[in-house]
Amino acid sequence: MNNPVPIPAFTDNYFWCLDDPQGRLIVVDPGDAASVLDYVQSQQKQLGTILITHEHDDHCGGLAELVHRHPHVRILAHAHTPLGIPYQPVEHGMELNIGDLLVRIIATPGHTQRHICYFFSEPEILFCGDALFSAGCGRLFEGNARDLLLSMQRLRALPEATRIYCAHEYTLTNLAFVQSIWPNNPFLHDFTQFMTKRLHEEQCTLPSTICDEKRINPFFNWDNPDLIRQVQARSSHKSRHAEDVLYEIRQWRNTFKP
Ligand SMILES: [Zn+2]
Repeated sequence: MNNPVPIPAFTDNYFWCLDDPQGRLIVVDPGDAASVLDYVQSQQKQLGTILITHEHDDHCGGLAELVHRHPHVRILAHAHTPLGIPYQPVEHGMELNIGDLLVRIIATPGHTQRHICYFFSEPEILFCGDALFSAGCGRLFEGNARDLLLSMQRLRALPEATRIYCAHEYTLTNLAFVQSIWPNNPFLHDFTQFMTKRLHEEQCTLPSTICDEKRINPFFNWDNPDLIRQVQARSSHKSRHAEDVLYEIRQWRNTFKP
């Protein structure tokens, strides 16, 4: 498998593209058709598979045109996702083949209730849409604190070497937020410097890894005593419960301005 390639779109979206074993393209969350069609043409390949993480327009707005131009494309999305076109419905825990690539479906409710991630085991790669960002997570549009905890638990349990490909470039804003709530995180300074340089040179901070996120992502650290202390010092509630810790942090992130 080649390394996923980002097609940058809109203000800060990435549509990730990679080859399948038959030499066709897999595209994740194509929110717009034109840039994907340009890329497919530049690669002189067929569009084989589209993976949809959730139904927000910036993740699936290109579908109708892509299906029109590539009528045999296979589309995966969570069952009952309102996409307006036929697709193959999938659910949490399912394992599917794309050629001889094996992909596992991980349900990650919270941002939307039908949000899913796609985990490839060889090599270990995660497409996580808007569920997880480097140093952050997606806003809770539909889910509650329990959903968020469940989703973060499922993702944190993946192998540490897993490379994570998020759908937005939010890394530096998220790191500024982490600095504001968890300034004594021992990995934060070096990680921020590395990502700032990477963004400057490569125009993209991704992929991150599960190992990196365990170190710097507050949404992966609901049980970190130091972070819990920081949250309790700022919060009127003094709960140490994982759901409450995550919910407090998510609420602060909603109003954070770098
Ligand atoms: Zn979204």
